[in-house]
Amino acid sequence: MSVPVSKNDEVVVDIVGLTHEGEGVGRADGFTLFIQGALPGERVRARVLKVKKQYGYAKLQELVAASPDRVEAPCPIYMQCGGCQLQHMDYDAQLRWKRQHVVDNLERIGKLRVAAGEGGDSGDVIVHPAIGMDKPWHYRNKAQVPIGMVPEAGRAADGSASVRDMRLVAGFYARGSHRIIDMDQCLIQHSVNDEIVAEVKAVGRELGITAYDEETGRGLLRHVMARVGFVSGEAMVVLVTNGQRIPQVERWVERIRETIPGVTSIVQNVNTRKTNVIFGDETRVLWGSDVIYDELDGIRFAISARSFYQVNPVQTVELYRKAVEYAGLTGSETVIDAYCGIGTISLFLARQAGRVYGVEIVPEAIEDARRNAALNEIGNAEFEAGPAEVVIPRWRQEGIVPDVIVVDPPRKGCDEALLETILAMRPERVVYVSCNPSTLARDLRVLEDGGYRTVEVQPVDMFPWTVHVESVILMVRK
Ligand code: SAH
Repeated sequence: MSVPVSKNDEVVVDIVGLTHEGEGVGRADGFTLFIQGALPGERVRARVLKVKKQYGYAKLQELVAASPDRVEAPCPIYMQCGGCQLQHMDYDAQLRWKRQHVVDNLERIGKLRVAAGEGGDSGDVIVHPAIGMDKPWHYRNKAQVPIGMVPEAGRAADGSASVRDMRLVAGFYARGSHRIIDMDQCLIQHSVNDEIVAEVKAVGRELGITAYDEETGRGLLRHVMARVGFVSGEAMVVLVTNGQRIPQVERWVERIRETIPGVTSIVQNVNTRKTNVIFGDETRVLWGSDVIYDELDGIRFAISARSFYQVNPVQTVELYRKAVEYAGLTGSETVIDAYCGIGTISLFLARQAGRVYGVEIVPEAIEDARRNAALNEIGNAEFEAGPAEVVIPRWRQEGIVPDVIVVDPPRKGCDEALLETILAMRPERVVYVSCNPSTLARDLRVLEDGGYRTVEVQPVDMFPWTVHVESVILMVRK
């Protein structure tokens, strides 16, 4: 096929869809152009940026006909920031798109038949409307912010700048790059996290602290991580440093404690490797506790610096309740919770099950999980550290027979060996919690072919204004 557009052409394009990254999908003479910021149903004028054989990219110039779903993005830095992708889309329209995105993946990749609307007795998969938030702002409990240096404005005429003339910034990576842009407030972040980041930045500037430079591997401060318990109000600050020593460390502690009263834990994590992995292996307490506590649906959790904990606690409760409902427990069942993190879903399940076995690859998270079971006096949950695909086959050999298996894998989905083990263990139900519709659909197909039927799917909006889609799925044995 010949390519009908070339670089720098101005074209008028009809937008027919939205990619999983939130770009508008345009058609110009049958040729596909991806256009950031354009919405389905719109007609836009755009300038072609890049052309490949099958598709290209174009920059939105003007809205010829705007979608009724278009809203003004409230965040002043939305256009530069890579954090949100759908702030120009009405919230209800986002929820509809997220449901449809799940449906599309189930149909295309999973080869599943999805019922129209709420379905009926057709045997087709029911995909419910996404559960949204009443107030979809300031929902995040965790900020993970890179630190950098930029030349101070108004410097020497020759443009030269010594380290002293550089200014510490903390913010976000500009869309598609590693350039750090300074930020004071994030509209999806709990305000305490914004305050923590601002204070760390202020102290760093006063003390002349250097930021880590990815190119040279020099400089001290790499990231600041802030996490706040929505119910407890307790907050943790983690300074990720390229080296052991933090100059005037007492000043940092004192200032953070003075300005942010909820802080109960100040921690240093040392990461001296040249990598974009945020955390290193060494974590030490500078002041206070090594964990913060938070509560979900009446269960208390201790959360340490490196443990995974869902970032939207309000929606997490919705998600976990749905997972427990789908597990269909009566009080006597044996349940396996694979990819259990700090045991959050495990403990929700344990309240209604006979016995729960949780498995997770990060050893610190398993320590947290055990501590959390004890904290809540839940005696029927046990945890083991290791890869789910290794530990669960061993459990099978040891004679553990689950009635229900819950999986909540990372974006890449379940390991194939784990899916095979699930099929071999033949539980009545499989409950799949997924943050990635495409790997979800792939895995459901494997389980369908092995004798399971997908009954219903509940998308839950854990990440408003972003393209991320979370869902929980019930499968039963045929
Ligand atoms: N269910 C938990 C955690 C979900 S995130 C919650 O809701 O909080 C996915 C978890 O899987 C992470 O904690 C990650 O460390 C863990 N993980 C990743 N690969 C794994 C593997 N192969 N086996 C077990 N756990 C794994």
